[in-house]
Amino acid sequence: MSKTYDLIIIGSGPAGLNAGIYAKRACLDTILFETIETSGGQITQTYEVDNYMGLPKINGFDLSQKFRDHAKSLDLEIVNAKITSIEQIRDRVKLVKTKDTTYLAKAVILATGAYPAKLGIEGEDEFRGKGVSYCATCDGAFFKGKTVCVFGGGDVALEDAIFLSKMATKVYLIHRRDELRGSQILQNEAKACDNIDILWSYAPVSINGNGKIEYVTIKNLKDNKDYRLDVDGVFVAIGTKAESSLLDGKVEMKKNRIVADETCKTSVPGIFAAGDVRTKQLRQVITAAADGANAVTSVLHYLSDLEQKK
Ligand code: NAP
Repeated sequence: MSKTYDLIIIGSGPAGLNAGIYAKRACLDTILFETIETSGGQITQTYEVDNYMGLPKINGFDLSQKFRDHAKSLDLEIVNAKITSIEQIRDRVKLVKTKDTTYLAKAVILATGAYPAKLGIEGEDEFRGKGVSYCATCDGAFFKGKTVCVFGGGDVALEDAIFLSKMATKVYLIHRRDELRGSQILQNEAKACDNIDILWSYAPVSINGNGKIEYVTIKNLKDNKDYRLDVDGVFVAIGTKAESSLLDGKVEMKKNRIVADETCKTSVPGIFAAGDVRTKQLRQVITAAADGANAVTSVLHYLSDLEQKK
């Protein structure tokens, strides 16, 4: 524990990697941490990204590799290690710890993203990994020729249903309202699939079976009655929770997202939040990448203020 970096970035999704690119181009002494080498964030589990300018219909993993290759071409130092704590966050020098090592930095960008939210219903934990999945691109192939359901009504649920319709015999998209939240283009695509049925105004109640999933129980919110729907697999796509625990109780948060505007400044000087971990209106690859650039610009202002106060 000797050297003090200008900047530590935590996370290697679009926000973290683009922060790395901007930091290297600004000649900041920077290190980026990711938990595993293939981290790359949520897009690595997206079969197709069709709204990142200039790269239409690109596979999510391929897009994340392009981001990584770009960052590596600038010699960004990337380390595989799980950060366990960020300490002395109000001091000029922040302490960032892994299980074995402590790193020092003048500024930290948290770009740890988000993870899938759970339904919180009976049977969800019991069948997790045994028919309940939070990643259609990872697990869809197990349901070739089977019947599955997807809970949710946003872009991810629609994308999952469309992806699963290519291998499953039948896909039920179960939404709790009578209007979908996802984009119109995906709604049109899903509605055009013969083997996708959208079940409107149904809430999830339980996942049932003996050793394997046999059916889900869903409540019709119009007549308030429970119904049985036979399925082999359940995909959950009801949004995300921010991976903000490293700063729990240390910075201002709202519904587990770190409060920060597009400058990515948190309530603590020198600590910045970029991408899905922060409060924002639109969570997309392009807005996460933009956050990376904005966060580094804020870091540069912060470091220059520190210099002047010396
Ligand atoms: P989302 O847009 O927040 O949608 C979550 C959906 O789950 C909503 O339809 C919501 O219902 C439903 N839901 C939430 N809690 C539920 C519960 N307990 N039981 C049943 N249903 C529940 O989340 P997302 O689809 O994961 O997308 C996250 C962000 O990524 C969004 O901003 C999205 O636009 C973006 N994204 C964009 C693309 C793309 O542009 N290609 C692809 C993927 C993701 P209500 O509608 O009733 O609230």
